[in-house]
Amino acid sequence: QDNADYLISRIRSIPGFPKEGINFRDFMPVLADAKAFGLMLDALEQALPVPADEFDAIAGLEARGFLFGPALAARLGKGFIAVRKAGKLPPETIGESYALEYGTATIEIESGMVAPGERVLIVDDLIATGGTAKAAADLIRRAGGEVAGFSFVMELIGLDGLAVLGDVPSSTLVTMP
Ligand code: IMP
Repeated sequence: QDNADYLISRIRSIPGFPKEGINFRDFMPVLADAKAFGLMLDALEQALPVPADEFDAIAGLEARGFLFGPALAARLGKGFIAVRKAGKLPPETIGESYALEYGTATIEIESGMVAPGERVLIVDDLIATGGTAKAAADLIRRAGGEVAGFSFVMELIGLDGLAVLGDVPSSTLVTMP
């Protein structure tokens, strides 16, 4: 419990960012603190939604999924697949578009990054509506992979984001309003 409290104490909240009415949850101070960063990786490892031998690689979402996904992957002896925002990768890419509150966004991976049948754990810092994680899962599947599970550091309550992810196991370390 002391460790959980310490980790939570390093999460910063910024009211009104990026716009009025949003309370932005920021885990950058967790990463900046050696103890909290280690605790977070320990907790992610302990909370894995499926045993580590049931997935082959970790896919992380740009940008904050890139900050701890590779560290977790290295601990577990897995590779890391970068899921990028559209237009950053050289061709060929596979893309998936999804709805935002206003407009749409597209995420991409490089073709050939996911081996046929590869079992992938998807990681991101935070799940809100679940739209981003759902799009990442659809992208991995379209690339020929299987989604073994999802690992999030934070979940915003009241949005029921996990419900849109279907019948795939997930884990979340911290739940926040
Ligand atoms: P969703 O698609 O609505 O689930 O939003 C999740 C995506 O938006 C993730 O990639 C998050 O990194 C980002 N996001 C949304 N709200 C926050 C926040 O309060 N803090 C950090 N990231 C957020």
